[in-house]
Amino acid sequence: MNAIGMHYGFWSHNWDEIEYAPLIEKVARLGFDVCEVASATFCTYSDEKLRELKRRADGHGLTFTYSIGLEREYDLASDDPAVRENGVRHVTEILRSMPKVGASILNGVSYAGWQAMPGHGITMEEKRRKEALALESLRRLMPIAEDNGVVYCCEVVNRFEQYLLNTAREGAAFVRQLESPSARVLLDTFHMNIEEDDLVQAILETGELLGHFHVGERNRRPPGSTNSLPWQDLANALKRIGYQGAVVMEPFVLMGGSIPYDIKVWRDLSEGASVPELDRMAGDACKFLRSLFA
Ligand code: MN
Repeated sequence: MNAIGMHYGFWSHNWDEIEYAPLIEKVARLGFDVCEVASATFCTYSDEKLRELKRRADGHGLTFTYSIGLEREYDLASDDPAVRENGVRHVTEILRSMPKVGASILNGVSYAGWQAMPGHGITMEEKRRKEALALESLRRLMPIAEDNGVVYCCEVVNRFEQYLLNTAREGAAFVRQLESPSARVLLDTFHMNIEEDDLVQAILETGELLGHFHVGERNRRPPGSTNSLPWQDLANALKRIGYQGAVVMEPFVLMGGSIPYDIKVWRDLSEGASVPELDRMAGDACKFLRSLFA
């Protein structure tokens, strides 16, 4: 049985308006095992606040996973060494905060700037050069991840969000080069549906390098709500590779604010849902995943 999780942004319009204490209560009440949280926010919290959030989560048997989408100023593959240095410093702070809340999975666009695209078409040679910059930064971070008991997951995302890792094969090749027991790949059904030739094969080829798994329908509605993806085949593939990690949903359905802007939600995918209706959508998706991964 895989732990089932929910991303923190589902009910919110803005990245900076999340109140974690009530969110923890809600996510636990809806049946989840894991609450995925914003690493950039958590690393700014005092030890006292982190202890308080851990106490609340522990009370519900809930654990945290840390999500990351590096801002441009922290781009670990930047041509500017000062920006890469800033990124290493920032991620080091994040990694050091994680044991304080018992979190052991860092995941997302953790290797370069999220949506930090080149200003022109690039050749394979240029891509390799940028990849080398990312690897150089990450090789500095791996010992810190190892020391803090963190599995460092690099998310394979679609071509409109990043250019280094667009397929599971690219993700696995990248992570292998880090030669660290902490380095893993994160696959996400939303991105896979855009880029992979074969969703099942992508999971099978990633195999033991898979460290985290994100789920959502093709349009990022909650999993099971439109049944547009071959869910049973995906679950079977995860079982075949012996995946023991968490399955975390990342649904985005609301319009308006910084979250829908960054995620490019230009229509009301919630269809006017009230908060209780959003709760029910999340709870139903949790039950759907539980039955799939039982
Ligand atoms: Mn994702």
